[in-house]
Amino acid sequence: MSKGERKVQQIKKAFVALHERDRINEVSIREVKNWLDDNTRDGMTLMRLANFLSKRPSFKMVRRERKVGTNQTESFWTMPDVMVSEEYTKAENTARRIGWVTDYGRCFDCMEMSSLNADGVCSKCEWKYPTA
Ligand SMILES: [Zn+2]
Repeated sequence: MSKGERKVQQIKKAFVALHERDRINEVSIREVKNWLDDNTRDGMTLMRLANFLSKRPSFKMVRRERKVGTNQTESFWTMPDVMVSEEYTKAENTARRIGWVTDYGRCFDCMEMSSLNADGVCSKCEWKYPTA
């Protein structure tokens, strides 16, 4: 098994562990990094982890959140083959934390992955949702 492949196996293990531990069908990239740092000898940098996640079809981005008033972002991911427990928290495009908004995710209207406005719709759909 190549070194990269071993890393991917570790990432999958992290997803499954967090899925079971927190009863969630989505994980933040930071939670995955922390798990790898705690449970593997080498740990993982955020940049390398983001690279693995975006290139492997086993992983799908759910959304990216931005902390309001900052450039700080955090992405959320799922493994569609594994993280589908109906009684667990669903993977969806809504930010759950106070002070964070989804700025990239699935448009509520057309369901495409795209940059989103504050109403959760993409630029192609936002004309249908005039803001007061
Ligand atoms: Zn749309």
